[in-house]
Amino acid sequence: MKIILLGAPGAGKGTQAEAICKHLSIPQISTGNIIRAALKNGTEMGKKAQAYMDAGKLVPDEVVIGIIEERLQEDDCKNGYVLDGFPRTIPQAEALDKMVKIDKVIDLEVSDEAIIARMSGRRVCEKCGATYHLLYKKPKAEGVCDICGGTLIQRKDDHPDTVKARLEVYHKETEPLIAHYKKQGVVKRVDGQEEVADTTRLTLAALEA
Ligand code: ADP
Ligand code: ZN
Repeated sequence: MKIILLGAPGAGKGTQAEAICKHLSIPQISTGNIIRAALKNGTEMGKKAQAYMDAGKLVPDEVVIGIIEERLQEDDCKNGYVLDGFPRTIPQAEALDKMVKIDKVIDLEVSDEAIIARMSGRRVCEKCGATYHLLYKKPKAEGVCDICGGTLIQRKDDHPDTVKARLEVYHKETEPLIAHYKKQGVVKRVDGQEEVADTTRLTLAALEA
């Protein structure tokens, strides 16, 4: 099955994508992860993408379309995959339409307010990278990592202003994809729940319906 996960940044796409992939034994293809890996490895593409990413902007269409075109030709894609973070614009969706026929689009809905609250409470250990949340996953001592004693900080792209900028881009560029795929009759809406496991249950059910 070829699946797209659509949803705002911070809606929990990545977590749901992982759950589907495990359930169906198919690969998860995340453009965000591919770009971050390129960045880490210092490739040309990574260097080009960094400024866009840091500003909460989208990387140019031709760059991500190229990434996906290559990735979908790999062997592990034969039995399907979950696209997580692609397509994010109408030109990207049109390019994908020319490459493959998508079976299902999961539209993961979470309100902007809930996303902002979730992301602005997120903290990460400066030293070991462990993640915490001021409401949902508190460290034992305020501002200190349980695991290594490091200082907990807020990531640049989790700052409320950056989150708001990313949400604006989502509503303007990505949300129109829901209508695009509705025309193909493949959209299933899933409302994000308070508990991740509940959302996963709804997501897996939506794939069978
Ligand atoms: P999130 O879903 O939380 O925004 P991602 O890891 O999917 O995080 O993406 C991080 C960043 O990578 C985006 O803000 C954007 O700059 C870039 N990016 C990822 N996928 C795409 C895409 N399909 N088109 C353009 N830019 C992308
Ligand atoms: Zn730590």
